[in-house]
Amino acid sequence: MTRATRSDGSNLSSEALNALRSSVKGKVVVKGQSPEDEYRPLLERWNRMHIKEANIIVLPETEEDVSSTIKFVGEHNLDVAISSGRHTYSGPSSSYGLIIDLRNLRKVSVDENKMIAVAQGGCIAGDVEAAAEAVGLRPVMGAVNATGCGGITTGGGIGNLSAQHGLVADNLLAARVALADGRIVVASDEENQDLFWGIRGGGSNFGLVTEFTYKLHKADPQVFSGFFMFPPDKLDAYLELMNSMHQDYVMKSNGKFTCNGFLAIMGGNPIPGFLIWYDGPEEEGQKYIKPLLDLGPIYPGSGAEMKPHTLTTDWKQFEKMFPPQFNRLVGTSTQMNYPLSVDILKKTVEKFKDIVAAHPESLSVSKLLFDIRDYSKIASVPLDATAYANRREGCLIAADLIWDKEELDKEMLQVAKDFISQVRAWVKEDNQQKGIAEVGAHVAATTLYALVTDGDEKLVSVFGPNLGRMKELKRKYDPDMMWDKWYPVDPNHEATN
Ligand SMILES: Cc1cc2nc3c(=O)[nH]c(=O)nc-3n(C[C@H](O)[C@H](O)[C@H](O)COP(=O)(O)OP(=O)(O)OC[C@H]3O[C@@H](n4cnc5c(N)ncnc54)[C@H](O)[C@@H]3O)c2cc1C
Repeated sequence: MTRATRSDGSNLSSEALNALRSSVKGKVVVKGQSPEDEYRPLLERWNRMHIKEANIIVLPETEEDVSSTIKFVGEHNLDVAISSGRHTYSGPSSSYGLIIDLRNLRKVSVDENKMIAVAQGGCIAGDVEAAAEAVGLRPVMGAVNATGCGGITTGGGIGNLSAQHGLVADNLLAARVALADGRIVVASDEENQDLFWGIRGGGSNFGLVTEFTYKLHKADPQVFSGFFMFPPDKLDAYLELMNSMHQDYVMKSNGKFTCNGFLAIMGGNPIPGFLIWYDGPEEEGQKYIKPLLDLGPIYPGSGAEMKPHTLTTDWKQFEKMFPPQFNRLVGTSTQMNYPLSVDILKKTVEKFKDIVAAHPESLSVSKLLFDIRDYSKIASVPLDATAYANRREGCLIAADLIWDKEELDKEMLQVAKDFISQVRAWVKEDNQQKGIAEVGAHVAATTLYALVTDGDEKLVSVFGPNLGRMKELKRKYDPDMMWDKWYPVDPNHEATN
């Protein structure tokens, strides 16, 4: 079966739908048959640009439900998507066919002595964080508690604890995976090792994870964290400070300090800021923020304080940056070597400013992000140890273009593409001038973060030297490409992309 011949399920007979209903305990919601107020909210995505009117949505209550639904998908050659936290940038959890929506599979159990958490496949990061924090432990998750474990773990996953403990995927001990034929298997260092390799960075290419087992870490109850924002005339000094924040503070903190730059354009002016996070007491944390206070004046409301870790990832603190009408998004990313070229940073900000100037109201909450963290723990894992291929030191630069009007969708996708191509070209030129070898993606780590892209990158840019093994595994676990939504690897396509 090829992707082109998949059905959207619109002509399924009522007998077939009834058979599906009777094979699962969970709800089966059908477009045009189920009440609109039940159907429509299930389509919602954080990025509304990717809402698709699925014909069938199955809400499994059990692992067996997942298995039966996958068999149904196979029998009827349906187009299928998996959705869990629905926080994807590029839309792979949407389909016009059948969506397996895991929102009702959100149980977590924590074993305090073994320091592990077992989380069902529909959990969001906050479910695992809260259960672990209750016994003084922490999982590695992303910066925001609302992202789904499904997407963030299978795609890699970077968060506050990554500098100390690696990727979210590096902290996965085992998983139960529903394969394209509906079988459920365990993937771990002991069982189906190749599948375990693939689901750590290979996304949903190999199956649906019904259960994650995570390593947890001992932690103090509170961390020192907060936002610092500066007036536009501090922009140059802010950009110049980045290298020193990385070299003199982040890299000397044993992974305990991260300093994420962000920049928005307000009233035509760049407003730069840092989101800082220090895993230690306030007295120590104050030393790390001294350069930020010296850079001041800081905007009112800026500052850091001790708070529970779960509060630092609480979506509520980010909510005011994302008013609800701004719900269409495209993300792009690239990585720059240290020391960062301040000239490129300035040109990047100028270009971003020009983009926002074209639609000042619609793009007012768009942001540039500069991920200044210690990547050595992530980079210390051999590149071929998991499918995840972006294991290198560097500053991840991402642009989140966020807007409010559907008619801007096409333009913004193109603008984002042009923007990141330009920044990548500047970085490449700078590397050449500095004599940093331009090594092909086949022999080196990749330079983009696959969870923050428009979904349209070349496969070799996402999987780098691991693409060959990805194809082998796809041939073994999903030769007919049932799972074809997040950077699907075509096992029979010889070309590198
Ligand atoms: C506001 C915001 C903040 C973010 N912050 C971070 C961050 O700090 N760090 C970071 O690394 N990323 C971050 N991201 C990116 C985020 O990790 C990805 O978008 C991720 O894919 C979201 O996963 P999800 O389960 O919520 O998404 P969904 O839209 O539900 O799914 C995304 C993809 O994951 C697959 N998937 C979902 N569940 C499963 C499962 N159980 N088994 C197999 N495949 C599954 C789906 O098939 C789909 O391909 C952020 C995104 C947003 C919108």
